[in-house]
Amino acid sequence: MQKNDIVITEIEDIGTGGEGIGRAEGYALFIKDTVIGDVVEAKIMKMKKNYGYARLMRILSPSKHRVEPRCIFARKCGGCQIQEMSYEEQLRFKEKKVRGNLARIGGLSDELLAQVMEPVVGMDEPFGYRNKAQFPIGTDKEGKLVAGFYAGRTHSIIPNTGCALGVPVNKEILECVLEFMKEYRISAYDEEKHTGLVRHVLIRYGFRTKEIMVCLIINGECLPHSEVLSERLSKIEGMTSITVNVNKERTNVIMGSRVKPLWGQTYITDYIGDVRYQISPLSFYQVNPVQTEKLYGLVLEYAGLTGEETVWDMYCGIGTISLFLAQRAGRVYGVEIVPQAIEDAKENARINKAENTEFYVGKAEEVLPEYYRRYEKEHPGEKAYADVIVVDPPRKGCDEALLRTMADMGPERIVYVSCDSATMARDVKMLRQEGYEVERVRAVDMFPQTVSVETIVLLSHKSPDSVINVTVDFGGDEGFGA
Ligand code: SAH
Repeated sequence: MQKNDIVITEIEDIGTGGEGIGRAEGYALFIKDTVIGDVVEAKIMKMKKNYGYARLMRILSPSKHRVEPRCIFARKCGGCQIQEMSYEEQLRFKEKKVRGNLARIGGLSDELLAQVMEPVVGMDEPFGYRNKAQFPIGTDKEGKLVAGFYAGRTHSIIPNTGCALGVPVNKEILECVLEFMKEYRISAYDEEKHTGLVRHVLIRYGFRTKEIMVCLIINGECLPHSEVLSERLSKIEGMTSITVNVNKERTNVIMGSRVKPLWGQTYITDYIGDVRYQISPLSFYQVNPVQTEKLYGLVLEYAGLTGEETVWDMYCGIGTISLFLAQRAGRVYGVEIVPQAIEDAKENARINKAENTEFYVGKAEEVLPEYYRRYEKEHPGEKAYADVIVVDPPRKGCDEALLRTMADMGPERIVYVSCDSATMARDVKMLRQEGYEVERVRAVDMFPQTVSVETIVLLSHKSPDSVINVTVDFGGDEGFGA
């Protein structure tokens, strides 16, 4: 098989970027814009040793799971990858991906998987779910100002102010910003030349509070005539915070580190369950509030709290899970690497009167082992104790040093929340070798229309009776200080 050959194949799987995977002459072929079950004619574009890339030429027989995408830019835009797949099939695909990784990488038997896998948690309405959108601003070929989304794997902007995953008010805000820029001749940022002012518009919307935040990311210190823009935007119902964020770097990273207020507060608030969170332009906050509430509810359920427990929440961000757990725990310790996030976590603890929480800045894989060693030294013959440890690491998963210390501490339950089921399965394998067994697994669809899937796993100690039960009074003293 070689370049430009035409092949006919049935799509059997999806790659990590959402592209369909078919087989021809024993080779796996990645074919964009295809859906599992499609029979397609494709042209080979590039061959590697064991696999290749082909371009979709014709759909000979459409999959029964193929649907009309809701957004006309679904194919071009890099935001969604699987809008052409029915939602039921998306959920099946995600559950299968989690199960496959736990079997292949985690070493779970079919028998165990049949016992522990619970049905995937989907959405009733899998569109309009995002509470956050970041629209790049640029100019089209005619020099007209545009806001939209990057085309998949590129940095060219597809003008689209009405993304189907976002909230309707995004459109009104973007049109207001573009109109203002046009009227006052304010330039859009040009990535290649590193000139021009407005780079992105960040919009956040509190689903429960209906509060709106607008933040313009600019390649400069200030936005000329900003009072006019503020005046206009402030008329939109729910407007609560208007700010600019300064980013003068030549970088793909959207936000800079400095936020300057233009109008109203510098944050909005929102609720997940009964917990109130304060959200600044720079804070990490889950983008799908409906599913986040379900996910955190499951964390609480899996943690099996009665009100007495000592809980560690590793990779805690702004303390979202920690505060959810604190409603039913004795004491919750949160650990997070970003100092600003810990500031937010402490503030969130304060506004929720969660006095049973403590937060520490540092790497999870350093803070916990250090605490463990220090505890042993200061309390000869005893060891540091936790009833439950929750981890919610970034894509790369947990560091081995953290997993080892967790196993040494021997909590009764470990709740693993993951945005990458492959690294999660790797870590689960290690925890199984260290005396834990998987009790419950559930995939939660936080990002409908995309290939991402969140997973929650409950692991229990195989012989909880062998663990010495010592409750610790761990003061926030030096060495761990945030
Ligand atoms: N549990 C939070 C955030 C999860 S995202 C929530 O649900 O909102 C993962 C978090 O891990 C991020 O906040 C990131 O800053 C943090 N992080 C990344 N590497 C880390 C490390 N080595 N140690 C501690 N935190 C880390």
